[in-house]
Amino acid sequence: MPLDRVSRDDVERRASSYERQEPSRLLDHGAACCREARRWFVALDASMAQLRLSSPAPAWIREQYEWGPSPWPLHWCEALGRDTLDSGALALLYAESFAARGLRVYQAQTLQLYSAQDCEHWGVTWEGRESGWIHAPLVYREVNVVIARGGEASVWDPAAGGWVGYPQPYGYAGILALRVASPGDELIRFRGAAVPTNQWHFSEELE
Ligand SMILES: [Zn+2]
Repeated sequence: MPLDRVSRDDVERRASSYERQEPSRLLDHGAACCREARRWFVALDASMAQLRLSSPAPAWIREQYEWGPSPWPLHWCEALGRDTLDSGALALLYAESFAARGLRVYQAQTLQLYSAQDCEHWGVTWEGRESGWIHAPLVYREVNVVIARGGEASVWDPAAGGWVGYPQPYGYAGILALRVASPGDELIRFRGAAVPTNQWHFSEELE
């Protein structure tokens, strides 16, 4: 599947269009509906964690929820009752789950490279919904950055339901830009490289 090349200028321009957009946030009604929904989620996640002691990643979430459109704004009770959730909503559920496993986790925004065919396909399936995240061949996706014991960061892609390499070669689903959100500015360590939070970081392979 051939991938279109994109220049660093293109990626920087696209990233700057997200300058003011923060990662997604689930809202809470502050009432029994959301309280019970979250309690259900935490209990289910804890039992899944016990069942899969060998896997530190909460894989069950993607088995429960298809990756697809979510309406925003979205409350906890609504999110947990849906069949499909977008990457932002999934990232929030995964964040809860990673944190419950005692891991430090950050929400992050990415621009990833996909094929024109994928982008076209998603454009059709998300038609009429929020499809503003598709900028063929780039797509905007929210991910989790998880800090392993030892301080090294890994990227969990909630839409794909798996770990992705970062930085990684200029290839399919490659992360060409990454912005890790944190309350204060920090440095996150990816394979020896220190990446500052709260600002876009671009793949060094871009020309
Ligand atoms: Zn609610």
